[in-house]
Amino acid sequence: MIRKKAVACYAVRDANLRSIGYLTYGYYCRCDLWIGIRARVFELYGKECFACGAPAEQVHHSDYSIQVLRGEDLSKLYPVCGDCHLWCEFDNGFKVSPRRATDKLKKRRASRGLSVEREGTPTQAEPKKRNCRVFKPPPGLRAYQEPPWGQLTRAELDLYRTKKGSWGRPAFAALGLPNPPPKGWLRRLLRPEENLAQPQKQRTAEPLPTLADVGREDGTWPTVEEINALEHGNGGWSRSALASLGVPWPPPKGWKRLLESKASRLTP
Ligand SMILES: [Zn+2]
Repeated sequence: MIRKKAVACYAVRDANLRSIGYLTYGYYCRCDLWIGIRARVFELYGKECFACGAPAEQVHHSDYSIQVLRGEDLSKLYPVCGDCHLWCEFDNGFKVSPRRATDKLKKRRASRGLSVEREGTPTQAEPKKRNCRVFKPPPGLRAYQEPPWGQLTRAELDLYRTKKGSWGRPAFAALGLPNPPPKGWLRRLLRPEENLAQPQKQRTAEPLPTLADVGREDGTWPTVEEINALEHGNGGWSRSALASLGVPWPPPKGWKRLLESKASRLTP
């Protein structure tokens, strides 16, 4: 139960991060924005562990709202030592929610006879300085904060494909989608008329080959020996073997009987 909640709140964190232009949490932590927030937290609350009083070298989040992630609300951030941070974030090896972790830190602090309330909750905005590696969409592409449901054409969506022809993490980020994206995301992004056009297009674009398409371009027919020689071990013919026999792919039903009837005319 705890685990489920905890996972859900990290999904919120990651979605919030993407909405302010950071692809992953690890990446955010390496950016100047976070490095600056961290320094301000130490400056404001001191560089000693909120829980145990040891020198602090980390900052604990009790909340992953956009204001906190942007550094506009420092009151949800706590200087902590590495030991307390690790201890508070796990229960029996399971990651706990930030709120539960914060309660554990507060209890440890209270056990030293100190007040858990912190005076002053600074919420001044950090000047928006963005000299860090924020995700940028590939040249010529728009980055969306929210998925543009029902707004894209097929051609527009194709621009987000990688060289391998699929859509990767950067594409999802640029389209404002979480990773992994929700089911049916591709269809949902397309304009309604594009969705209607697709099945018809596919049907007319590539009709399946029929027996009329069987036959080599030079008009010759393979012999029975040739057909049998190209058969591979497990009783079938590979695509390339069929091509050399003049059979299109996928092979139409009855191709073998047709070839054999042609071959029997060649060899009396
Ligand atoms: Zn500590």
